[in-house]
Amino acid sequence: MKPMFKHVVAMIVLTLVAIGPAGADDSRFNRMISQAMADLSTVKGSTDLLCLTNAPYVRSNGRPGIDYLNPIQELTGCSVGNQNLLFFQRAQFYPLSITLFRGSTGEAVVMTMKNDGFAIERLELSQSNLSSKAFWKETEGLACKPDFFTIASIAGSWALGAPYDYLKCAELHNHLCPGVSSGYLIARMILDQYPLKQGERYTMISSPIWCKEDAFQVVLDLTPGKRGMIVKKLTQAQKDRITVKNPAGMLLITDKKTGAGKCVAFSFDFDKMRKLAPKESPKVALVFALVDYLDEPRRFVTVAKEFPVTGKMAQEMITAGSNPYEVAGLTTPQN
Ligand SMILES: [Zn+2]
Repeated sequence: MKPMFKHVVAMIVLTLVAIGPAGADDSRFNRMISQAMADLSTVKGSTDLLCLTNAPYVRSNGRPGIDYLNPIQELTGCSVGNQNLLFFQRAQFYPLSITLFRGSTGEAVVMTMKNDGFAIERLELSQSNLSSKAFWKETEGLACKPDFFTIASIAGSWALGAPYDYLKCAELHNHLCPGVSSGYLIARMILDQYPLKQGERYTMISSPIWCKEDAFQVVLDLTPGKRGMIVKKLTQAQKDRITVKNPAGMLLITDKKTGAGKCVAFSFDFDKMRKLAPKESPKVALVFALVDYLDEPRRFVTVAKEFPVTGKMAQEMITAGSNPYEVAGLTTPQN
């Protein structure tokens, strides 16, 4: 019987499909995916269909999640090139999660590995449901609850036409939120306004820290391991002394040889961002509202200060033990 998705806030059917460990009969897994496609009344290759999974990252029951990806691709026709096969990062010990989602209706079948089977949940993840507080309350007992915000924020944004580079930020960060969006917008501003010249490099001083740092890594390839990002936590007392309004990190643009160049201090206006969605709505409503503004970084991001730096000063700013804003002269005097 075809499950009902309509006329209910969430129709939840929990079915455990035993799959078994490595080497077991995979035909049951294939049947589960085919059934999910049938439940969604969709066909292989539909561009209205999204597959969202943590399969490349996790190992369940000793079996790498990536093993499941070929059958998923073959049965759904979803692919990276079609931008309808999206991933999200999880720790390796995390359960395998696979969501098939229809963008036009919001219908979803979420399959979460449990013991040696899958919990299958059929949900109506329409924009209106996801933007309702009552709906979120009903999701409390779901088997997919630990992934629910991830699935809702990414699938919902995909359905609204969010750009692929933004969805790649969601992959690393494993969800979309106003914080990672702020990082995406700052990164877009950097690309537009501060393109690198020959022989220059960026170093992002991530301070204060929030979700934005994960967008810098994806969009600008500024990773801590390659020293493109220096992550510095500030105490509340240190933050209170910063003279930049709404400080959102500082970018060093320096000569690769001399280490000298300039520094750009950014501000991010969260108050302005918050106004895009009703105050009482769930966080994801703001995430969805933001999709329309991702190519307008200047609406929220401002350059608070731009100043020259010597090689010595740049080193002082990124070295452990210093408050980079203090080195830059962007703090009030210490009492
Ligand atoms: Zn976040």
